[in-house]
Amino acid sequence: MPRPISATIHPAALRHNLVRLRRAAGDAKVWAVVKANAYGHGIERVYEAMRGADGFALLDLQEAERVRALGWRGPILLLEGVFEARDLELCSRLNLWHTVHCDEQIDMLAVHKTHAPHKVFLKMNSGMNRLGFAPQRYRSAWTRLDALPQVDEIGLMTHFSDADGDKGVAEQVRVFAEVTRDLPGERTLANSAAALRFGSDAAVRGDWIRPGIAAYGSAPDYPVNDIAHWDLQPAMTLSSKLIGVQELKAGDTVGYGSTYTADAPIRIGIVACGYADGYPRHCSTGTPILVDGVRTRLVARVSMDMLTVDLTLVPQARIGSEVTLWGRAANGAVLAIDEPAKAGGTLGYELMCALAPRVPTSVDG
Ligand SMILES: *Cc1c(COP(=O)(O)O)cnc(C)c1O
Repeated sequence: MPRPISATIHPAALRHNLVRLRRAAGDAKVWAVVKANAYGHGIERVYEAMRGADGFALLDLQEAERVRALGWRGPILLLEGVFEARDLELCSRLNLWHTVHCDEQIDMLAVHKTHAPHKVFLKMNSGMNRLGFAPQRYRSAWTRLDALPQVDEIGLMTHFSDADGDKGVAEQVRVFAEVTRDLPGERTLANSAAALRFGSDAAVRGDWIRPGIAAYGSAPDYPVNDIAHWDLQPAMTLSSKLIGVQELKAGDTVGYGSTYTADAPIRIGIVACGYADGYPRHCSTGTPILVDGVRTRLVARVSMDMLTVDLTLVPQARIGSEVTLWGRAANGAVLAIDEPAKAGGTLGYELMCALAPRVPTSVDG
């Protein structure tokens, strides 16, 4: 028998979350963001559930090829555009929309030979200071693009730095709206946090929202709000089983470095899951975890292939009992990925993407 760890992808949750995002953003169309192999869920595994979106957005040209290979005929957007001139050939062949964020990408387009002109999104750097044209350079870039026979429609795009935090999006929205005021074309601004928090504002939702994380069932502004607040469901469950039980007496310690010491007799369960599976090593004693669907806590250090849990609240637990690291337990109890992520000093984003290839993954339903 293989090690009893596995991940399960939940199409019904993906569908639910997309409906939820659509509701938050009125009449906007939805780019389902499936970069990083659908945030670690697997493009092929999420495709059926996510084809209810209006388009797929990603960065990697090979991932765009995979979405086309699944039979998707609708829009696909390259969020960072092309990396070199010959990428444009693939854009022409696969009919990909691509972001244009710098002069070099316009130069490449200007010498590209294509029968079918491309749809592009021209990206403004409205304050994030990663990719995009500065506001004062945006309109000249637009004029240059507009003059190219290789370009058909020009959409207008920006990305928020603080949609999930106190600073919010108001200043970036103001800059974007001012510079693009009289330009034609579809607008796209909002990631998950902006769509959920500010999607009722037409200037924020634009014509297309670009949700990623919320579609997978993580709250973008956790811990201010959690998935229950946003009515999101986990799209991934990481589960395993107890492969050992130890009865400790007061003074006994657990694991490498003996970081946990029992102050009274306690039953400890040994779980077949470690950092080599993608569980964060920085999670320490107190991190929530479900055993038989009952909320308990991790104790001691996470090691490569195992971690240890407090069985005080689950006296019936024995070897073979179900353990839920994140997601949904068999009894329906939910542990949002945001909780272990926070305890490990990271985000749901990173945990999803870091699910290790050695974890067998399937799709339920
Ligand atoms: C990743 C990404 C998104 C999705 O962001 P979430 O926070 O996961 O919703 C949207 N737009 C761009 C440009 C991105 O790179």
